[in-house]
Amino acid sequence: MAVGPVARVHGPVLPPRDGAPVDAPAETARAIEAFEAVGGELEALASRAGASGSTLVRQARIARDPALTALAGQLVSTGRAAPRAAWEAFAAYRDMRAADPMRAVPDRAELDDIRDRVVARLLGEPTPGIPDPGTPFVLVARDLSPAVTAGLDPERVLGIITERGGPTSHTAVLAKSLGIPAVVACPGVASLRSGQRVMVDGAVGEVTADPDSDTVGAAVKLPKPDAVVTGPGRTRDGRPVRLFAAVGGVGDADDALAAGAEGVGVFRTEFAFLDRDEPPSVAEQAAAYREVFDAFGSREVTVRTLDIGADKPASYVRLGDQPNPALGVRGIRVARRHVELLTDQLTAIAMASRGSETPVRVMAPMVATTAEAAWFAAQCREHGIGTAGVMVEVPAAALRAADMLRVVDFVSVGSNDLAQYTFATDRADGELADLLDPWQPAFLDLVATVLRAGAVAGRPVTVCGEAPSDPMLALVLVGLGAGALSMTSRVLPDVRATLARHSYDDCVRYATAAVSADGPSEARARVRDALDRS
Ligand code: PEP
Ligand code: MG
Repeated sequence: MAVGPVARVHGPVLPPRDGAPVDAPAETARAIEAFEAVGGELEALASRAGASGSTLVRQARIARDPALTALAGQLVSTGRAAPRAAWEAFAAYRDMRAADPMRAVPDRAELDDIRDRVVARLLGEPTPGIPDPGTPFVLVARDLSPAVTAGLDPERVLGIITERGGPTSHTAVLAKSLGIPAVVACPGVASLRSGQRVMVDGAVGEVTADPDSDTVGAAVKLPKPDAVVTGPGRTRDGRPVRLFAAVGGVGDADDALAAGAEGVGVFRTEFAFLDRDEPPSVAEQAAAYREVFDAFGSREVTVRTLDIGADKPASYVRLGDQPNPALGVRGIRVARRHVELLTDQLTAIAMASRGSETPVRVMAPMVATTAEAAWFAAQCREHGIGTAGVMVEVPAAALRAADMLRVVDFVSVGSNDLAQYTFATDRADGELADLLDPWQPAFLDLVATVLRAGAVAGRPVTVCGEAPSDPMLALVLVGLGAGALSMTSRVLPDVRATLARHSYDDCVRYATAAVSADGPSEARARVRDALDRS
C-alpha cells in the first residue's frame, strides 16, 4: 500500500510539424544521434530489468537498426526536419518489416514507445513516461509500456494507477517484481489531479482519492504479516507448503534465494531467448540453464520449455498472421511445426543437469490433451529427463488432470492462463479484468479439480502464476489441497508468514467459504469474515 501525491506521465508526443528547408547533413546527424542515444537508454533499462527486460532488449535493437536510421536519413534528404523524419520513419519501418516474410512484424506499442522517445529527444522535450516532481509520487497513467514500467525507481514511485492493462499483464507483473503497489484497470483515472493525495492498495485493488487521516491510519494499522518468519513454508500446525519462486533467468536468483525460496516453481526459459533472430544453440541454452541450476544448488528447479507465441513472439519462429494468437500456435503447439526447437531444448536441459546436484523437473506450457502430455513425457524420457510434467493452463487439461497424471510425473497450474482461457478473456485487457480475478469460484473449482486429481494419483501439483501471490488466496489454495505454490520472490516472505498464522483446518474453512460464494467479491468477503473469526 502507498500514499502520496499524483504525478501523471508526460506525453503523449504529438506528430511534429514539418517546417522550413533544412540543413540535410546536420539534421541526419541529429537523427542518428537521437536513435543511438535512445538505443543506449533502452539498453540501460534492459540491464536494470534483468530477466524481465526482454522487451527492452528488443526495443534497443530496433532503435539501432541501420534500416530504421537509413529510412530517417532518406526522409531528411527529401526536406524533412529530423523530428518529422524520425516520426515518419517508424511507420515506413513497420511497413517494411511487414512486407518481409523472413522477419517478425514489430509490436506497434513497442515501436510507438521508441518513436516517442526519439522524437521527444529531438524536440528537447522530457522523455515521455516518467515525471520528475522532485519528491516521491504515485504514478498515474492511461497505460504503461513494459519499457516505462521496468525503468521505474521504487524509491521515487510509491505506487502505480493505470486505467488500462490486465492484472496479470506485463505491467502488473513487473510492478510486483519491483515491489511497487499497483492498481490496474482503474476507472476514473482521468479525474485524478496532479499533486492530489491518493492511497493505493495493491493488495485489494483499491484507490482512495484524498484519504482522510483516519482512513490512512486504519490502513496503516492493518495487521501486517510478520515477514521475518523463516524456513520452509508450513501452516501453523506444521503442514508443509513448499514455496517456490518464479524466475526468468539467473538474474532473478539472488532475490529468490534472499526470500528463502525452496526452489524454482517456473523457470520461464523463453524470456532469455525472445530477442534474437536465430534460435539459441544447444550449447548456449545449456550454459544458461546450468547457471540457474548452480545458483539454486540442491533446491528443486522446474524448467518450463519455451512458451513462444501470442504475447511472446520470437522472430526465429514464424507463426504467420494468426487471427487470434492466444488461441493459436503457442507453447507446446509450436513443436507441431518446429519439433527441433523442443528436442534441442530438452537436449540442452539434459546436458545442463548432467553432473549438477539440482533436482530438475521439466514441464511444457499450453498442453490441452492427454495425448500431448504423453507425447511430451515420451520426448523427455528419450532425452534422459527423469521428471516430466505439464502446465495446466487450458480448462480441458484441468478437467482431465487425472488422465494427465497417469502419463506425467507432476502438473503445475498456470493460474494466469487458466483464468484467461476459462473466462475467454485476454489477460492484457483491463476492461475485462474482473473476469480474470483468481477469486472467481469457477476458476477455483478448476484448480480444486486438479488438486484432487493430484491427491488421488499421489503426484505433486504446484500452483503458479499470479494467484498464489495474494496471501489470502494462498490460504484458500492450501485449503483446496495445494502443497506447493510458486510466486514472485518479493511476496514470498509475506505468504510464508501468513501461512504460519493459520492451521490447515482454518485453510480448509477459508476454501469452503470461497468456493461457495457467487462471485469474487463475495468470496473475498467470506474469507475475510472467516479470518476475523479465527
Ligand atoms: C501462467 O500462465 O500462470 C504462467 C505461469 O505462465 P505465464 O504467465 O508465463 O504465461
Ligand atoms: Mg502461462
